[in-house]
Amino acid sequence: MRRALDTYKPITTVHGQVGYGYFGKHAGYDYGVVHITIKAPEDGVIMNVKKSPDTDGGNIIEMQSSKYDHRFLHLKSIGVKIGQVVKEGQNLGVTGNTGNVGYHLHHDTRIKGTAWKDSYANYVDWESIIKSKEIDMYKGRSAKQWYEKVVQVHGQAKRVTKIADDRGRALEVANSSIKTLQDQVKKLGAKPKAVVVEVGETTRSWFEKLINIFRR
Ligand SMILES: [Zn+2]
Repeated sequence: MRRALDTYKPITTVHGQVGYGYFGKHAGYDYGVVHITIKAPEDGVIMNVKKSPDTDGGNIIEMQSSKYDHRFLHLKSIGVKIGQVVKEGQNLGVTGNTGNVGYHLHHDTRIKGTAWKDSYANYVDWESIIKSKEIDMYKGRSAKQWYEKVVQVHGQAKRVTKIADDRGRALEVANSSIKTLQDQVKKLGAKPKAVVVEVGETTRSWFEKLINIFRR
């Protein structure tokens, strides 16, 4: 589960904002981007692709996961086909300005199988879901708490390659053991802004979340 865009892009219209869409409230999130690759937010299947650059939503991709229906609007290009099985993080297409409402990505999510005519209550506040899964790595945590959080959230994060303090200074601890890491963290003393784990099979999605937060 991840954002459709690799980095945390500026939100131009939030979920529920009054005055947008068929229900008088915005049914998803708008991100102010021009031409950015969209990634599948979850494993799923492409249910529909609509190439209609001059109509309301422009070029559209509809994707279904085990729990949700996702839609991506105003795309410049579509890189998937109806019925295609996609993996989380797989490229789906590129954002654009089709529908002529200004360059942005509109991403909306509703409970799987909910028809559009049904209630607004079935839309899903995807951005909040993602946020709730991110690790709180802001102010006030000691280095030790930081490290414990890493292990708690990602039990297999056995090796850490880099620690950055709250001024962004990086301390390289390549190929360190947990013990070495603990020593390094202790030495760093201050409150590290983030801990970057080595990228591997099991740490990849967690690593991506860290990168998203880093870039805010
Ligand atoms: Zn929108």
